[in-house]
Amino acid sequence: MNSPSYYNQLLDITHSRNILVTGGAGYIGSHTVHRLAQRGYDVTVVDDLSRGYRHNVDAARLRELNLADTPALEKLLAEKPFSAVIHFAAYIAVGESMVKPELHFSNNLGGSLSLLSAMTRAGVRRLVFSSTAAVYGTPETSPVTEQMPHAPVSPYGESKVMVERILGWFDGIHQLRSIALRYFNASGADPASGLGEEHDPETHLIPLLLRAVLTGQPITLFGTDYDTPDGTCIRDYVHVADLAEAHVLALEALLAGSASDAFNVGTGRGHSVREVIRAVEEVTGRAVPVRVGPRREGDPPVLVACSDKLRRALGWKPRYEDLREIVATAWEFEKSRRPG
Ligand code: UDP
Repeated sequence: MNSPSYYNQLLDITHSRNILVTGGAGYIGSHTVHRLAQRGYDVTVVDDLSRGYRHNVDAARLRELNLADTPALEKLLAEKPFSAVIHFAAYIAVGESMVKPELHFSNNLGGSLSLLSAMTRAGVRRLVFSSTAAVYGTPETSPVTEQMPHAPVSPYGESKVMVERILGWFDGIHQLRSIALRYFNASGADPASGLGEEHDPETHLIPLLLRAVLTGQPITLFGTDYDTPDGTCIRDYVHVADLAEAHVLALEALLAGSASDAFNVGTGRGHSVREVIRAVEEVTGRAVPVRVGPRREGDPPVLVACSDKLRRALGWKPRYEDLREIVATAWEFEKSRRPG
């Protein structure tokens, strides 16, 4: 028989608005923290700042900590009754994972395991997990539904598949309910927050195109011989504020007692690299210096989400459906990084 204080503690955990966000100093993490704060959640951020930026988080929220430090995480989770964790902290550069798989497996898998064990001990049993379209590898058909097989083509994608599978075991054994969100191409910036996309080195198309416009240094277009209408790769660019909203909806579903699940997050619209270049030229009013190069290894020709499940189950609807609007928010952010 458990003591009354045990039940009080459980009740506290169920009803508290304290949320822990790992990787909250990164691109998608910081936008989600911003949205959570707007919704009245009390957010604590764990980030070791190895890839995220201090300027993306209010100092009062930030706990500078590496996820591998299980005892410190346990201590932190015991400080307040946290009702859930949103877990972003991970290495995301696919190219890097092809060169240093050990880094991606130890950080993404090791960090997640450490977090899960700290959560289990602290009795925190709800988790929103930052997953990726990379779990599908090179899908045979488009759009991609959640039922399609997991077939990652990089250690990065594999590390996310592995964590999703581990979450299945934690659900069965520890009743830890989780929702995995498989993002397509996160892009744009939330104009109201001052936040935006910053990676070092930057590998993503939209910020690179905008920087090419600003610096005059050409960007390399990776392949024009794909089996697509204009020969360049097609992707589903989803605005980061819409991604942030998907996390809040997933969190609230879990808090309301939802079972574990996984959802794609994308707009369902595909744009070729050439179309993105045109959108950047329209938004900036300037020509993008481009040079055509060979294909980049591991790039699937077409990657577009079917997000019907997320729309149906959680009522998600992207606010940004026009690529030019997405690019415009990224452009405002890029200009703000380079005053004058
Ligand atoms: N891309 C490109 N040149 C670059 C960076 C990206 O042509 O310098 C292409 C890339 O091949 C892909 C698309 O732009 O087809 C989106 O790439 P990104 O790295 O932004 O996201 P990914 O789809 O790899 O997650």
